[in-house]
Amino acid sequence: AVASTGDSPAKPDKLLGGLLSPDFEEASCVSRYQSSLFWHSNRTPSSYLLHKLRSYEALHKKCGPNTEPFNRSLQQLTASAAAAAGGNSECKYLVWLPSDGLGNQLIALVSTFLYALLNDRVLLLSIPMGLHGTFCEPFPDSSWALPSDFPIYNLDTHDFYSKSPRSYGYLLENKVASLPPYLYLHLSHDASDYDKTFYCDDAQPLLQNFAWLFLRSNQYFTPALFLMPRYDQELSKLFPEKETVFHHLGRYLLHPTNAVWGYVTRYYEAYLASAKDRVGIQVRNFPNAPVKFELMLDQIINCTMKEGILPETQLEAPANSSTTPAMGTKPKAVLVTSLQIGYSDTLQAMYYERATATGEVVGVFQPSHDELQRTERQGHNAKALAEIYLLSFSDTLVTSAFSTFGYVAQALGGLRPWILLRPDNGSGKACRRASSMEPCFHFAPTYDCKAGRVVDKGKVVPHVRHCEDLNFDWGLKLF
Ligand code: GDP
Repeated sequence: AVASTGDSPAKPDKLLGGLLSPDFEEASCVSRYQSSLFWHSNRTPSSYLLHKLRSYEALHKKCGPNTEPFNRSLQQLTASAAAAAGGNSECKYLVWLPSDGLGNQLIALVSTFLYALLNDRVLLLSIPMGLHGTFCEPFPDSSWALPSDFPIYNLDTHDFYSKSPRSYGYLLENKVASLPPYLYLHLSHDASDYDKTFYCDDAQPLLQNFAWLFLRSNQYFTPALFLMPRYDQELSKLFPEKETVFHHLGRYLLHPTNAVWGYVTRYYEAYLASAKDRVGIQVRNFPNAPVKFELMLDQIINCTMKEGILPETQLEAPANSSTTPAMGTKPKAVLVTSLQIGYSDTLQAMYYERATATGEVVGVFQPSHDELQRTERQGHNAKALAEIYLLSFSDTLVTSAFSTFGYVAQALGGLRPWILLRPDNGSGKACRRASSMEPCFHFAPTYDCKAGRVVDKGKVVPHVRHCEDLNFDWGLKLF
């Protein structure tokens, strides 16, 4: 399946400018090699990032599951005074624990990987049932999955929740003197002020003592790492273009398995490949803060027409044939993703019943509408990931404010989307253009560790500012 992307004659680079390791068998994970055929925007990774990833891969291979050092380090999970000794272990680990929907999981995963890179830790995943068979292994000759016989079972409940006695925040709050053998970092939206001191430079030396850290988050906490002086130099070398963190690390880590890639390519070839261009519209209605269907539809139509993303339609049926499309006219394809079918049904009917002012023809397509979020189901997540990828292949992308699902699509695609705002956003605007492709860290810390007080973290350094998602503008984002 080769994308007919029209006007990009340059041969796409299969390994994304050296981002991807050549040490994989192509057939085992086709998406790794084919995605670049579909993406329109490509940023060049720094040679320092490439170097860092290759040495990370060597570390992962040396320390990963079923190696000698791995088996030895399992003893650190139970040994008394293990934490004290952990600082000297040859291999240190960081275990990612899942939380919330796919978008939330992936933004947290990318942030967790960046933290692992910065601290020479091996990233391991507690992969939830709903994600089995969804992603390829990203590191050659090893696995990122925690083995099924890992001695700590029930990772979802055991010790790893907000305020658990194993958590770093609890340790601080209760001034616990004797260190446990391993530590849990709770970095979700509801992290306590104690948990959030993780983002203070001074917290890090203590954490380095532990051979095993467990981390749960549903946030894109990367921008906060960019506010920590200790990582400043390294991050500048890794990402001279600050807004490309997720773009590169996401393209490095997140490859759909062949089964999921089948969804992507079948859909693309059937509905999108022959279009003259592709507009992606991601409509997210949050059940805990719902927006009425008609109001959201108005936002979509107002935004796309005012910004020239979709052509206006003619109210009157044309009296002559001037608006009849010429034979063989290539359509503009609009890919709508949503849990509901109503928005795309309405748009499709609109372009069927009326001619466009430009004479363009517009096809509107929506791959699925599961109605409810079912994160525990593999089939549901396969579609969610496939749709994130399909959105990332757009020429122009429209996303919903505050949705992490849209964040992943925009950053993978290297796109600065138009952000659909809630009708009650107070600005009177239907949408706003993002000026960076990065996801937003919604519940970012506000405490300045050095000053010892709350500050406006969007004003500390030029490349970390508040997000464009109105109503939620306390978030932080890299620019
Ligand atoms: P967020 O809640 O918008 O930040 O995004 P998440 O991805 O974390 O959670 C929403 C979940 O609902 C997704 O992971 C999907 O399971 C489902 N969902 C939401 N919107 C869509 C969509 O457009 N297409 C599909 N297939 N699933 C969606």
